[in-house]
Amino acid sequence: MIRGDLVEQSVFVRAEALVRARHIDADTDAGPLVHDPPPDIDPEILKRLRQMYEAGGWVLVESALADVPGDLRWLYESGAVTIDQLGAIHRALGSTSAADLVAAVREEKIRAIPGLDAHVEAAIGAALPTLRAMTPRVPLGRATAIAETVLDRLRTVPGVTWALPVGSLRRGQDMVGDIEIVAATSQPADAIAELLIVPESPRVLHKTERRLYLLIERIQVGVRLPDPENAGAALLYLTGSTAHFEALRARADASGWRLTADGLYDGDGTLRPSPTEDAVYATLGLPCIPPEIREGTEEIALANRGELPTLVARADIRGDLHMHSLWSDGRDPIEAMVQGCVALGYEYMAITDHSPSSAALRNLTLDSVNKQADEIAGLRERYPTIAILHGCEVDILPDGRLDFPDRILERFDIVLASLHDSAGQLPEQLMKRYASAMQHPLVTLITHPTNRLVPHRRGYDLDYDRLFELAVEHRTAVEIDGAPSHLDLDGALARRAIAAGATVAVSSDSHRAEMLGPQMHLGVVTARRGWVESRHVLNARSLEEVRAVIAAKRGAR
Ligand SMILES: [Zn+2]
Ligand SMILES: [Zn+2]
Repeated sequence: MIRGDLVEQSVFVRAEALVRARHIDADTDAGPLVHDPPPDIDPEILKRLRQMYEAGGWVLVESALADVPGDLRWLYESGAVTIDQLGAIHRALGSTSAADLVAAVREEKIRAIPGLDAHVEAAIGAALPTLRAMTPRVPLGRATAIAETVLDRLRTVPGVTWALPVGSLRRGQDMVGDIEIVAATSQPADAIAELLIVPESPRVLHKTERRLYLLIERIQVGVRLPDPENAGAALLYLTGSTAHFEALRARADASGWRLTADGLYDGDGTLRPSPTEDAVYATLGLPCIPPEIREGTEEIALANRGELPTLVARADIRGDLHMHSLWSDGRDPIEAMVQGCVALGYEYMAITDHSPSSAALRNLTLDSVNKQADEIAGLRERYPTIAILHGCEVDILPDGRLDFPDRILERFDIVLASLHDSAGQLPEQLMKRYASAMQHPLVTLITHPTNRLVPHRRGYDLDYDRLFELAVEHRTAVEIDGAPSHLDLDGALARRAIAAGATVAVSSDSHRAEMLGPQMHLGVVTARRGWVESRHVLNARSLEEVRAVIAAKRGAR
């Protein structure tokens, strides 16, 4: 039997599985005894396993490396450290991620470990940027969904004051490096126990008193459980970005504080408790800066001058103007979408199925538009608390015309226009298609303007500033589409759009009722990365205002 404390203290828990798989019986008193060792077992591994028990500690076995927290594995594979050095660092500092290593290098803690020196520390420091590039990235939608399952459970545990994702996930990057969660609790054992009770027990990569690394759907999820008294410091450091944290650190230095990964130290070197991020920012004379814009560019200077904008929030969103139903490639009937929107508290919604030539598997036809209108009329009577707009997402054809004749388009309450394929055209031709769609008086919104497919396809290579100029000129909104494969416009383009004076719509483009909320969330996060405020957002306005925007352009015909 493996001793419990081995599992407790080892990051390399898979050594235990290795022992089991190899039929090694680790007798607690006499040391490991090998019964019937498989012929392929590496004698070096056996030797190390023996040492592990004899020393009463643990050892990192190279063949178990596949199952250690990813950043440590990448560090080893980058060649910056030997396997023994890696083990020594983990044992001495408890490091489990690149963020820990960055802090350890910065604080010169690695050179102080017996057997290591400043050269190794420098090698690790040099390897860290590449380490980030080596880490496989998970699309934001998938990362959010995986993290939510863990966060939901953590939030039910008594003693957990709050639980939030950190890193690129919290900052809403399109592609997420590590999925990490910080949960403030004075009873970490309860939180760990909760996470380990699941129908099929998750693979545990690492477990200590206040850390747990799991493999969920083949993706690593790290959970840190700091004491509430200083959990804000962990949240701030681990959220990053590195550039933002460095700028905060410089600001702290300038006013006699020292900001580290552990928190804020005053002039006497005493750690000042930071239960929340707000507490750290307040000490530094700043308001709390939204995670989505912590990029280390101008946000701290603006916050310092009290000029940070109030970014759009989910609560500002009054309706969803883009979603699909069974009438095209959606998975749910309109009624389910209506119920979903009612549950989200929207004042209005638009059903916007695809037009006949769209590449979707099923599309609206000329005939079905009337039938769909009848169905919506019936639902309006049954769901009087929400305004149901009958819309469509019409394809922009290769010659720039729209995929429904005007006499049909006129019947819709709102028309969204989109390019779903380039038809092999050059950027100038694509731009012409967009321009002619935007000039059309019935078109209110251009959906997913770059038409990228995260992470598989880059967006169109267009002059987007020109596109946004045209959008302003022709009073057409551009979309921030929250579908995980779109996130289009992304934050950077959304920021250029509003800088040009364009109006944006944040939509779910949901094809299922259950995704209405999650995809709107992703849309809002992406908008926030673009510094978008509610005043820029079409669907943060009242129904009357939205109708007025549509009517104003139509009236200009
Ligand atoms: Zn579309
Ligand atoms: Zn759509």
